[in-house]
Amino acid sequence: MNFSVTILGSNSAIPSLSRNPSAQWLNAAERIFLIDCAEGTQLQLRRFHLHFQRIKHILISHLHGDHYYGLMGLLTTFHLLGRKEILHLYGPPELSDIVNLQLEVSLTRLLYPLEFHPLVSAEPEMIFTDERVEVTAFPLLHSIPTYGFLFREKIRLRNYPACRSYAYCSDTAYDESIIPLIKGVDLVYHEATFHTELQEQARNRLHSTAAEAATIALKCGAGKLLIGHFSARYDSIQPLLDEARAVFPETIAASDGETIQIFSKH
Ligand SMILES: [Zn+2]
Repeated sequence: MNFSVTILGSNSAIPSLSRNPSAQWLNAAERIFLIDCAEGTQLQLRRFHLHFQRIKHILISHLHGDHYYGLMGLLTTFHLLGRKEILHLYGPPELSDIVNLQLEVSLTRLLYPLEFHPLVSAEPEMIFTDERVEVTAFPLLHSIPTYGFLFREKIRLRNYPACRSYAYCSDTAYDESIIPLIKGVDLVYHEATFHTELQEQARNRLHSTAAEAATIALKCGAGKLLIGHFSARYDSIQPLLDEARAVFPETIAASDGETIQIFSKH
């Protein structure tokens, strides 16, 4: 069964022609989760031929625009395409007001049920579970309330001796308190907005450097590290990749449109 992540955006705040801001399509044992939804996400879904009515859950990590400015457009497109199926939306509590106000002023009554699940807990909290997958939200260290997400496969069949897992950590300053929670994860996505040359800037803005992302991956014993949320100042992200690999060799850099299969490291 498929367990993979497709990158819809790998830049931080400012989009560029080759890198959109944050969004990821996660296929977790055929459950489709959209993680963050920057502006232009629905165009990325089309560009990469992803059948977006398959999305049942949208998770918004925090309310900086580069993580949700594409949400209204996508919700409206679902409506215009005649979606009937329920959509689950997870995010900070204010997101519900933001969405409802925009629907209200445009006199839009969605054709499908939209169920909102506010993220408020200061502790890790299971936000979704079924017979195949479990999703936990956990607080990250950023300038406004921000959540990371941990996805764990549950089925243990004879042919699947170990369950696969994926952690999404963006945006965040270097924060070792997340390590126990994501210990042994098969693939960790961790933001790497800056090169170490801009360590000061990373610290001031509560972002991470590539070396810090790699240190988290190393300390949590991850199978692989995926870095992303790159500052638009970098035309080439090779220096960031080199920096991370010096600490944690099993690092790959997010690239828009690329799909990464997640394998159990056990
Ligand atoms: Zn961001």
